[in-house]
Amino acid sequence: MPQTQYEPVIGLEIHAQLLTRSKLFCGDSTEFGGEPNTHISVVNLAYPGTLPVLNKEAVHLAVKLGLSLGCTINSTSIFDRKNYFYPDLPKGYQISQNAIPVCSGGAIPIVVDGEVKQVRLNRIHLEEDAGKSIHDDGNDYTMIDLNRAGTPLVEIVTEPVITSADEAYECLAMVRKIVRYLGVCDGNMEEGSLRCDANISVRKRGETKLGTKVEVKNLNSVRNVRRAITFEIDRLTGLLSTGQEVRQQTRNFDADTGTTSALRTKEEANDYRYFPDPDLPPVLISKEEISSIHNSLKPLPHEIEKRMISEFHVPGEAASIICDDTFLIDLFNDGIQITKNYQALANWLIGPVKSHLNEAGTNDGRITPGKIASLADLTSGGTVAFAVAAARIFPEVMETGEDALTVAKRLNLIQTDDSDVLNEWIEAVINSMPEKVNEYRKGKKNLVGLFAGEVKKLSKGKADMKAAISLITEKLNK
Ligand code: ADP
Ligand code: MG
Repeated sequence: MPQTQYEPVIGLEIHAQLLTRSKLFCGDSTEFGGEPNTHISVVNLAYPGTLPVLNKEAVHLAVKLGLSLGCTINSTSIFDRKNYFYPDLPKGYQISQNAIPVCSGGAIPIVVDGEVKQVRLNRIHLEEDAGKSIHDDGNDYTMIDLNRAGTPLVEIVTEPVITSADEAYECLAMVRKIVRYLGVCDGNMEEGSLRCDANISVRKRGETKLGTKVEVKNLNSVRNVRRAITFEIDRLTGLLSTGQEVRQQTRNFDADTGTTSALRTKEEANDYRYFPDPDLPPVLISKEEISSIHNSLKPLPHEIEKRMISEFHVPGEAASIICDDTFLIDLFNDGIQITKNYQALANWLIGPVKSHLNEAGTNDGRITPGKIASLADLTSGGTVAFAVAAARIFPEVMETGEDALTVAKRLNLIQTDDSDVLNEWIEAVINSMPEKVNEYRKGKKNLVGLFAGEVKKLSKGKADMKAAISLITEKLNK
């Protein structure tokens, strides 16, 4: 039977570390790194007699994310104990939400073939992170670092509605974009602040029942999510199309080889014996709290992207680059209050500004919407050529804080369409290339571009090219 008779079904479980300063149930710092076992306290170490106290900010961030994704916010949610034994879990259980999560439903909006597809969510729940076991230092013992234990996480669980590795990739990329934009999570997959497990099954096309799934862990980049899923779809389809059975398994992804291997099968799975944590009262969220968070929400990047294209006529590719970066989005939103040259503004953002930020970092306070708007005004009317402005004016504006036009005047870079001035340059160029002029007159009309380029060079970018080209053509056709 051809393999196309099978179709994949995918569901993602995405863990995002919330950007709170302290942990979910105590005051320890959540800062990444630090000497091992320095961001810990008696609560984290599960000393007898200690009690958890819920971090309100974590709930606030989870609600903010939930509202942005169209979830229902549950006015009462419950913390449960998820019991299992592991050395990096001192309490012997993880505090999570099982029966009633903070958010239910909702969807991740992704773009598939130019259409928005809503990837439905099952839930978003709060839970604490575990510590870290360090096995691979060549020692015959394992070391434990509990700095991360108790860090607040949200787990975003999709329904099994994703139908390809590419869609899964888009989902995770969109979640990363949104959590960063909202300031809910830093989205850093290398440091593990954003983690994803992929559940994959394959079934015969037309079948309504889901196939047996495997869960792939240890996916530390958006790209690896796509690689792992692609590998699993092939493997599972291979099994089914040769009449073999799929066993429900947890599998590990190896980024070096792009393959997965079995970690454990269903029979070895834990029974977590969830029950409500008696140390924690139900989490109550009032209508007023929800509406005040709702009112503080800004439009999401993909909504801004849509508006940039439809309302401000920014090309799609530029809009997408800007909307990938919170700082660029803010510069655009503030910039359009100052200039009407929206497309030039976008060009500045995706070109010189983005390169500058890559080098200097977004905390370089010298980049302001006012400066970028003044550059957009300068180049959009052809006062100065974009390349010249990017190379010479942009650094000066950053350095001195002067307005772009002032710098252009000071450096004598204003373009001219004065025909006397232009003709001087044009004549010099034409006189220096008699053979090319002959070729042109014999019919090689596209040589205009060559002359124009030379005029541009000779004028050091100061020639207004539209005026120059029309004068060049006029002269050559004489
Ligand atoms: P479990 O009980 O094994 O944790 P859940 O029902 O809680 O499974 O689902 C966990 C994740 O796996 C969700 O993202 C869900 O969409 C996905 N999932 C569940 N069943 C399947 C399946 N048969 N194929 C693909 N994904 C699935
Ligand atoms: Mg589950």
